[in-house]
Amino acid sequence: MATSLFAGERPDRLEEACAVFGVYAPGEDVARLTCFGLQALQHRGQESAGIAVGDGETILIHKDLGLVDQVFDEEALAHLKGDIAIGHTRYSTAGGGGWKEAQPHVSAIDDEIIALAHNGTLVDTVPQRAWLANEGVQLYGHTDSEVAARTIGVDTRRTGHIRGGIRLMMQQLHGAYAIVLATPTALYAFRDAHGIRPLSLGKLPDDRGWVVASETCGLDAVGAQFVRDVEPGEIVKVSAAGLESEQGMQPGKRAFCIFEYVYFARPDSVLDGEVVYHARRRMGRVLAREAPVEADMVLGVPDSGVPPALGYAEESGIPYGDGIVKNRYVGRTFIQPTQEMRQMGIRIKLNPLPSMIRGKRIVVIDDSIVRGNTSKKLVEMLRDAGAVEVHLRIVSPEVMWPCFYGIDTDTQDQLISANLPHDEVCRYIGCDSLAFISLEGLHEAVESDHDGYCDACFSGEYPVAIPERLQRKAFLEISA
Ligand code: SF4
Repeated sequence: MATSLFAGERPDRLEEACAVFGVYAPGEDVARLTCFGLQALQHRGQESAGIAVGDGETILIHKDLGLVDQVFDEEALAHLKGDIAIGHTRYSTAGGGGWKEAQPHVSAIDDEIIALAHNGTLVDTVPQRAWLANEGVQLYGHTDSEVAARTIGVDTRRTGHIRGGIRLMMQQLHGAYAIVLATPTALYAFRDAHGIRPLSLGKLPDDRGWVVASETCGLDAVGAQFVRDVEPGEIVKVSAAGLESEQGMQPGKRAFCIFEYVYFARPDSVLDGEVVYHARRRMGRVLAREAPVEADMVLGVPDSGVPPALGYAEESGIPYGDGIVKNRYVGRTFIQPTQEMRQMGIRIKLNPLPSMIRGKRIVVIDDSIVRGNTSKKLVEMLRDAGAVEVHLRIVSPEVMWPCFYGIDTDTQDQLISANLPHDEVCRYIGCDSLAFISLEGLHEAVESDHDGYCDACFSGEYPVAIPERLQRKAFLEISA
């Protein structure tokens, strides 16, 4: 539930950095396939959208601010003809959110044009910017994605081929990345050594081509069959020679972002062999065991709170009810807020059903609490609709630490749970009781086929070291 409707305002939720999509399919309308894939992945970023196509000779690109269907029309797609396409939707976490930062990022390696699209965040690009300057490279924007693209450029000149360039880049840059890269004749996809952000590989029917996408729902949208995930540290190349794979760098300890299961991913996506919907439903069951309450009805905050609310209802025996209706046509927009609009707050996006709520003690299931403002407004709204008790149950543990891997919580002082004790958070939000799933409970609910997760925003245990210079800016106890 992204809850900022207004330009320049951060939403009161952890927000995903981006989505990437890539397709190699000679003879197909690759730009249109990419457009469909990006529409399926729109939830991962709504600030800008872009597609770059390799036509055998060069790279063609169209990108702009806005949602996928605002950026692409028939005319734009008609100009993007080729065999290879990559696409991107953006939510800015590093480098601002203007047109210049929209992706794919296009650059040249001598006379070969490349396009690159990135999901994630590189932890510290300051030394790499200095290294690039030393190599005579001038950067034109502020994004870490440009740093990655230009590093690959320098390293490709050194090694004589792009795969060598990507391999060297992997040694030099640290953090979270799932990247797709197009040259005029080939598609590349690669992932950081810990596999922090997701990237799945699929195949079009009848051997018509290969597809990569941030989530499997992007593969489904174009009729591609899921084959496997791109592995941590792996480089996949697809060209006229077929699909080739190599381990670009040794994988580190696996650290897949556990928050993908809680909130970021679409419920119909499969992450690491686990359907997100089922994981969310299990989270609700675990939470019902850990934090029971006497109540008349369970309701979920749409969309990500609904599957766990069903799980909570199953486990507790309290009936589930639809008590909040979501307006599906309000996304992140560029509207300048008026005072009147601010007062309307979340009512623009969520509206309660008083006939379901009036006179009842309700348990509300939501995915997370970051700054606390939205939860406060939500509780007020439910009381106004006639709820006699509001018990808030959250299917993530308390968010105590900032994320440096592609999510927009930069500093600990933005996080209510890092600043106030539990009972004061409850009082601030105005609910009758408040409980969070335990970290062990969340891990129990995510029954994936591996045990390597990043849970740093709950535990403070970062899988990729955070330089002290960044810690000083971000952590409360050493920020003075
Ligand atoms: S810190 Fe939290 S949001 Fe960021 S990658 Fe780790 S689990 Fe995901």
